[in-house]
Amino acid sequence: MNNANTSSSIIDPHGRCIHKMRVQLTDACNFRCFYCMPAQVKFLPSKQLLSATEIIDICSELTNVGINEMRVSGGEPTLRKDFRQIIEGLDELNLLKLGLTSNAYFLDKELPFLKNTNCQHINISLDSLNKQSFAQITKTNYFDTVFQTILQTKAMGFHVKVNVVLLKGVNDAEVFDFIEFSARHKIEVRFLELMKIGPQNAKHEHLFISAREIIQKIEGSEKLTPQSVNCDSTSFNFTTSAGAHIGFIASESQPFCQFCSRLRLTATGILRACLMSEDGINLRYRNKAEYAAILHDVVSMKPNYRIDHIEQPMYQIGG
Ligand code: SAM
Ligand code: SF4
Repeated sequence: MNNANTSSSIIDPHGRCIHKMRVQLTDACNFRCFYCMPAQVKFLPSKQLLSATEIIDICSELTNVGINEMRVSGGEPTLRKDFRQIIEGLDELNLLKLGLTSNAYFLDKELPFLKNTNCQHINISLDSLNKQSFAQITKTNYFDTVFQTILQTKAMGFHVKVNVVLLKGVNDAEVFDFIEFSARHKIEVRFLELMKIGPQNAKHEHLFISAREIIQKIEGSEKLTPQSVNCDSTSFNFTTSAGAHIGFIASESQPFCQFCSRLRLTATGILRACLMSEDGINLRYRNKAEYAAILHDVVSMKPNYRIDHIEQPMYQIGG
């Protein structure tokens, strides 16, 4: 672990302070969540992916120009054979915060290793508390592994959040079960609106349910107490009297683009400005001396409004 970088960040043309980055380690995944990827999917050949050394070098340079929070994601980041090497490298950087987003299937064997690193903020996807529905969504039968690993992650003292993508008619009836889960296990649950990204765009209006609708449903029987969050937080959060902590990421109905502080590094080395746009600049094989200028160019590509949809699926962008 290292001392955290508190140096100033990059200010974009719209006055946003850009200091966070999603780092996609791979597009590959062992799950097939239907809203994220098609059942028949072809992943990138590994030689097209940045090596561990390239990822660490690029991330290191970007910390020098103002990025001070990173979250690794995918695809499924724990599928990388050099996952530990990458985390060890990022652990050496001057980051205020290092996080991981995972489906948790391979996570349990990584937890003792992660415990000794700066990577203490772990978000785990769990779209259903019902085994059949989990299988329907993920096309796997790994519910028990994921559920137990969430509890284990919490028990080991990590900051754990469970991500639930709201899917009308699929899991929206489980909202109260998730609230009960949160209160019982003292784990924050975040409900994500389904974004118009990738394979589900055509079915979006049938599957989409807004955070507002869910909040109104909850308020019919529970008092929700708002919690304060950072101004660039993507979620708005509440507690319940029973002690549940829940958050909503309303990317579709209440976009937060005006406060966005994030860039994305894809697994092939593209530094992109926005989840919803393929615009970006390839950092692979670029001279480090060019980084400040590249960063300036990428930051100026950041839209200040919500782009309606993107055909590229989430697993290819890095969620
Ligand atoms: N495999 C890891 C996981 O599932 O946590 C990390 C990558 S996944 C792409 C990151 C997050 O994106 C997950 O929480 C997933 O549910 C979410 N996601 C994928 N497609 C989405 C969509 N169309 N709208 C909203 N969230 C989406
Ligand atoms: Fe894999 Fe995560 Fe996409 Fe599900 S959401 S298919 S676990 S990358």
